[in-house]
Amino acid sequence: MRDFQRQRLYDWENRWERESASNGARRTRSLFWHQVLARKVFTDAGWQDGPEVVRNRRVGWASANATTINLCVPSRTSTMILLHEAAHAMLARLRIERLKAGTFKPYASHGPEFCRLYAELLGLHAGEDQLKIERSMRAAGLKVSTEMIHP
Ligand SMILES: [Zn+2]
Repeated sequence: MRDFQRQRLYDWENRWERESASNGARRTRSLFWHQVLARKVFTDAGWQDGPEVVRNRRVGWASANATTINLCVPSRTSTMILLHEAAHAMLARLRIERLKAGTFKPYASHGPEFCRLYAELLGLHAGEDQLKIERSMRAAGLKVSTEMIHP
């Protein structure tokens, strides 16, 4: 499925981090702190374990799959970035579970489901106001799912 609102989300994210983000969301943290947070994000959602968080030696973008979050070398790894990647890791894990259960529906990588989950995680783990985030995303033209992604 085409990743139709990726750039729009990146633009929203940069603006939010610069102008509106809580100190908790904006703050740059150590790799260990991110490892602890990623585990908490997943265990709070009912899983036994979280993805491994590693620091990629190559300069580039952070990325994530169901089992690993790769943060990039530059020092700037905020809680926002970690939670963005944690949302990708969580959707990847849900994808596997839903494929097995036969309930999988395709989704865009930064689509409405991603935005909703990201807003939830920012609310739960970064001291942000989830509804305010969703309003701001929608005002920026992003589609945000009205349903909870991981009830
Ligand atoms: Zn992303």
